[in-house]
Amino acid sequence: MDHFELRGGVLHAEDVPLTKIAEEVGTPVYVYSRATLIRHARVFRDALSGVNKPHIAFAVKSNPNLAVLKVLQQEGYGADVVSGGELVRALAADMAPQDIVFSGVGKTHDELLQGLRANIGQFNIESEEEGYELASIAARYGMTARCALRVNPDVDARTHEKISTGKAENKFGVPIDRAAEIYANLADQDGMDMRGIAVHIGSQLSTLEPLETAFVKVGKLVQELRDAGQKVTHVDLGGGLGVPYKAGEIMPSPAEYGAMVARVTKDWDVALSFEPGRVIAGNAGILLTRVIRVKRSSNASPFIVVDAAMNDLARPAMYGAWHDIEAVAPKGGKMNAHVVGPICETGDTFAMNRDLDVLESGDLAIFRTAGAYGATMASSYNSRGFVAEVLVDGDKFAVVADRLPAADIMAAERVPDWL
Ligand SMILES: *Cc1c(COP(=O)(O)O)cnc(C)c1O
Repeated sequence: MDHFELRGGVLHAEDVPLTKIAEEVGTPVYVYSRATLIRHARVFRDALSGVNKPHIAFAVKSNPNLAVLKVLQQEGYGADVVSGGELVRALAADMAPQDIVFSGVGKTHDELLQGLRANIGQFNIESEEEGYELASIAARYGMTARCALRVNPDVDARTHEKISTGKAENKFGVPIDRAAEIYANLADQDGMDMRGIAVHIGSQLSTLEPLETAFVKVGKLVQELRDAGQKVTHVDLGGGLGVPYKAGEIMPSPAEYGAMVARVTKDWDVALSFEPGRVIAGNAGILLTRVIRVKRSSNASPFIVVDAAMNDLARPAMYGAWHDIEAVAPKGGKMNAHVVGPICETGDTFAMNRDLDVLESGDLAIFRTAGAYGATMASSYNSRGFVAEVLVDGDKFAVVADRLPAADIMAAERVPDWL
């Protein structure tokens, strides 16, 4: 459920007409609903009521906007970060260091040190090599790194290949059949507090079975480690729950997910943590755009050229992803059209042969389910500048990320004096 609804013929974000945001902030602009973020955060937490004191770390990469992080921090969420930049953001949003988990396959020496200095709750170690490097840094500075070993369970998440992370051929985690040996090696190092296992098999998962298969494997590993005399007090089950991108699409609910987790983990006797991203932020945001013109060149469907492009919302170009497209002030009729951005790439296409509300030059439209992996993936390709972001709360709204004009980006460039 979200708070982007038609009222009196005009789409609103909570109590704010999107027409008002377009007038005051311009387009394209991302619009997030605070009430929807809060609702999703609570639904996810409530779904874990069968789990003893779950720790929930929002996957910052899905939406790193500071105001969004602040909303989730106020809901008691921690953060799953995958770079030093995301760590800075989580701390800036007042997330408690102990509630921050640092994931990622390529943490640099500086990032490992940054995490240690911030005294974060847990590093999710993605390779034996990374573990040794972290141990040596921690030992050198007289610090201790609380760590989980991320395992690759070799499970097919049955999602888009570019967001699958738990197959043996993917770069993430250590092979689960070598995990016990690596865990023991790392636990022996000074500076290391090996306390558990982490797993995350992919994103936008539309069924629970792959997750359950992976979790069962993790449960066996926990037992194996304990049998070998290792301490295991924490397990991080990652994120990955899918969201509906098409009206009417059915996805596993957080409640079904929580029930499955409670059932599979009931005898583990560990503190569980979770790293949801998309399921919290996805449907809490839309991308608001204006139609530049409708181009009719043949008898085939016209091209609706909008002022948002693949640099603002990359998912369609990157994953062939679907986003529902709706008029902000629907006129009643329907048309079949291709929806494209202005960028000079055929990949800058949001929809082909889509049946949608009639749209004409100057009309406003939205892309739904753009709150996760939307603005965070924006670029300035075609020197378009960076898209703005707005957060709505009831009948008020605020710009939470300024539009960064192309001129400001150019201002960071230099022509050397020898040219
Ligand atoms: C991306 C990512 C997540 C979040 O995935 P969602 O599908 O957005 O829930 C969680 N954990 C790790 C390690 C990730 O890389």
